[in-house]
Amino acid sequence: MADEVAKAQTASAGGDTIFGKILRKEIPCNYIYEDDKCVAFHDINPQAPTHFLVIPRKPIAQLSLAEESDEQLLGHLMIVARKVAKDVGLSQGFRLVINDGADGCQSVYHLHLHVLGGRQLGWPPG
Ligand code: AMP
Repeated sequence: MADEVAKAQTASAGGDTIFGKILRKEIPCNYIYEDDKCVAFHDINPQAPTHFLVIPRKPIAQLSLAEESDEQLLGHLMIVARKVAKDVGLSQGFRLVINDGADGCQSVYHLHLHVLGGRQLGWPPG
């Protein structure tokens, strides 16, 4: 079993997460974007030449637990994803991924958008 899959199988939903610590600046992280609703930073274990995450400041554990009232925030995260993708030079395209739950291979239970690019990506994903 790949490391990431194993991690996702043992990850537990709920409670504080490493992204909460990053947002509270309890662990160092260089943001590549921030505003009052979200931040973006490079993934510590990149799966492509460019791989960054966009996370809301609001601690939504996972997409399947987002509420109707989060609609604007979710749209904002996508707009930020495409703005940052442009800023970091992903002119040939990119992929946006949201892993949800154990089957979706989610390992950190604070909603996040993965933005991957800088190489030809394959399909279907594993
Ligand atoms: P997921 O498996 O969709 O929950 O993705 C969690 C992502 O967070 C993985 O791609 C990890 O590499 C990434 N990650 C975990 N800790 C950190 C960290 N301290 N800084 C940046 N990325 C992290």
